[in-house]
Amino acid sequence: MITILKTNITVKDICEGFVYNDYEGKGLFGLAGKLTIQPEYQRNYIYASDGGKREMAVIESVLKGYPIGLIYFNKASENKLEVLDGQQRITSLGRFVTDKFAVKDENGMEQYFGGMAKDKKDKILETKLLIYECEGTESQIKEWFKTINIAGVPLVPQELLNAIYSGPFVTLGKEEFSNSQNSNIQKWSAYIKGSANRQAFFERALDWVSKGNIDDYMSSHRNDKNINELKKYFNSVIDWISSVFIDVESEMQGLEWGRLYEQYHKKSYDPKKVSAEVRKLYGDPYIKNRKGIFEFILGGSVDTKLLEVRIFDEATKKSVYATQTAKAEKKGVSNCSHCAIGHDANKAKIWSLSDMDADHVSAWSKGGKSDIKNCEMLCKTHNRAKGNR
Ligand SMILES: [Zn+2]
Repeated sequence: MITILKTNITVKDICEGFVYNDYEGKGLFGLAGKLTIQPEYQRNYIYASDGGKREMAVIESVLKGYPIGLIYFNKASENKLEVLDGQQRITSLGRFVTDKFAVKDENGMEQYFGGMAKDKKDKILETKLLIYECEGTESQIKEWFKTINIAGVPLVPQELLNAIYSGPFVTLGKEEFSNSQNSNIQKWSAYIKGSANRQAFFERALDWVSKGNIDDYMSSHRNDKNINELKKYFNSVIDWISSVFIDVESEMQGLEWGRLYEQYHKKSYDPKKVSAEVRKLYGDPYIKNRKGIFEFILGGSVDTKLLEVRIFDEATKKSVYATQTAKAEKKGVSNCSHCAIGHDANKAKIWSLSDMDADHVSAWSKGGKSDIKNCEMLCKTHNRAKGNR
């Protein structure tokens, strides 16, 4: 790979012919059209998020004469350059000189580029950037891109995969799933955590359709001219969730919906009954893990482990143990009621507290509470045999 350091390119040169696409949220061209700012394997522009602190910081650095770091271009052909590293900074500069956002001046007043004093404008435009122009094969460039971390904001795994498998498939996938203007995002966000800009939805869509093998899937579909299968599968999962669970609860976000869909989508559910059960379980103070409610219901409301039902506290256990043991000693039988009615050597055994576990006399799933009146201590063997009912 050949690299040449350029030190004479100014902010003015870079921003010549700058185009910002609001719809796609990216900076497109600079250097009078010679420079592609966001090639398809690059991540989305994220410096404008979080109130725009990062893009303002870029401008403030330039105004104060601080360096904004090295920028890398890939020389794609004689008259074509692509930004390999620095697109967030270049887009910040381009957006500022085209009056897309303001910075605060020394008096705390908002200042747009268009309204700035000439000397300040010139200071920005005449600032020279440190740029490495690199020339190499596609695989050399991409291998190297993989090793770069853009200042302070490391690439997430999906951004990396988009870079490695860039091509028509990734372009179409990002258009659908990584576009924060897509009106479906709100609906998807009920079930999926993360932001479109950081590839959360694209990643989930790929994860679901590939059953967790995103890498292989992207590799084999890299040159596809459509994303039909991906879209269809993703929508099937989303439609299935919203048809089974008519209420949206915050705990639904980020669940393993792909796996649940595969496991349960062929079973039929009555959404009204499901909704009533969700509400009943949400009102149950003994359920510690509300995220488990959805899978619990899908599985036929039997696997209570998913709910992490609150167990008895230590004070309750100690108190029940003491009463139970005193009674048993009087009668000369085991303090485990199951052992006491048996015929083996444990019939009269007095277990220590540490050899016993608390059990719900009336099972939680049948409405039994986790309070002292519903608590019985059993030896560990019998407790296990009774199971988590
Ligand atoms: Zn026992």
